[in-house]
Amino acid sequence: MTEPTSQLHSQRSIIQLGHPTLRQRARQVRDVRSSEVQQLIDELIATVEQANGVGIAAPQVDESYQIMIVASRPNPRYPFAPEMEPTAMINPTILARSEAMEKGWEGCLSVPGVRGLVPRHCEVTVEYQDRAGQLQQITLTGFVARIFQHEYDHFQGLVFLDRVESEADLLDEAAYQAMVNPERS
Ligand code: ZN
Repeated sequence: MTEPTSQLHSQRSIIQLGHPTLRQRARQVRDVRSSEVQQLIDELIATVEQANGVGIAAPQVDESYQIMIVASRPNPRYPFAPEMEPTAMINPTILARSEAMEKGWEGCLSVPGVRGLVPRHCEVTVEYQDRAGQLQQITLTGFVARIFQHEYDHFQGLVFLDRVESEADLLDEAAYQAMVNPERS
């Protein structure tokens, strides 16, 4: 299946757990509107779509900058994800977190083959620059709030495995797929 963005913009290769960039703190982006940053955003969108991801952070393509794409949509890796336009969030900060937390299944394009039940805040209010450089503020809930918190962790050098509370909360990808998608296995 080809999509317009995949044809126009080259994908980047995704680095895997063990690569030192995944453990670094990502830098702020100075000039959001520069052609380099705009190109990186397009490449991240093409990369996350091709990989059936619902989000990606620039450190995952070995660019240690605070750029994330939140791109929730139903796909074979996340059949029940809500649909939204891929959204670039640059230099984000979390303004408020709900006290309520919930555990949900996560995977990571940089940690293939494993899923974990990860506790996250149910709701986060965040501020970020959009790809035009405009400051945006939004309250995210549920699965999209989870994606944001997962990608935000990548800016701190964290991966979801760091937040799993017990090894009993880990599954391999095949077991996870059989659980959420029994008709496909
Ligand atoms: Zn990840």
